[in-house]
Amino acid sequence: MRLITINRTRPNASIELYGCPMQCKYCSHTSAQFKDYDLDKVVQAMSDNGIRSVFLGGAEPAMHRKEALDLIRILHGRGKEVILKTTGADPEFLAATKGKVTRYILEVKAPLDDPQLLTVVTSLPLEKAREQQENVRRSLTVLEGQKVRAVLRLIPGRYTVEAVERMAEDLAGHVDELVIAQFLSSDSDVSYSGITTPSPDQATMMAFGQAARRHLPRVKVKGSGFDIVL
Ligand code: SF4
Repeated sequence: MRLITINRTRPNASIELYGCPMQCKYCSHTSAQFKDYDLDKVVQAMSDNGIRSVFLGGAEPAMHRKEALDLIRILHGRGKEVILKTTGADPEFLAATKGKVTRYILEVKAPLDDPQLLTVVTSLPLEKAREQQENVRRSLTVLEGQKVRAVLRLIPGRYTVEAVERMAEDLAGHVDELVIAQFLSSDSDVSYSGITTPSPDQATMMAFGQAARRHLPRVKVKGSGFDIVL
């Protein structure tokens, strides 16, 4: 498996896998260093009894479909809670993980009827953006009844309140929470397009959050110095 990091913190450990089809220019993972590991070694690293839950994230774990499925099966079999991050790019992969994953973290990027916006916030060409949105649609159906938290990294100048509200409508009935995160307020982002400080500001973030909250039971708006549940 190609990994960026293994973090064995107790009780909540994490594994950051390498590789994502979206190749967003502001994503620290796209330029991160990686190392190849045998599955056995990764399992061994997580076998500490003090580790209760394992977050599988990084970029898109489905890029390592076979190894990721084996790892999820083994971790679940050993009584660990598995939290899986995904872009929704591989609904068949997600279907195979059901029953073994405690919570899914779905990274969302654009309303499902707006592939053009997806080409702006990722490196996907239009045809691939359409395919990705169809996959997300199918993934939302596959994950019905599961615990799903959607996460939107709000790139300044790329989103309107109306677009975020349409994204919330797409997610309604499929996710129990949407987290809207300010750009550059975490280590996952690198400066991009002249944006070098955490933004948009808190008041603007709240306007996005309130629009989303009209359609979803819980919306969290977080950024540098604020973390507000609506
Ligand atoms: S920001 Fe998310 S979707 Fe974009 S390249 Fe990074 S992990 Fe992939």
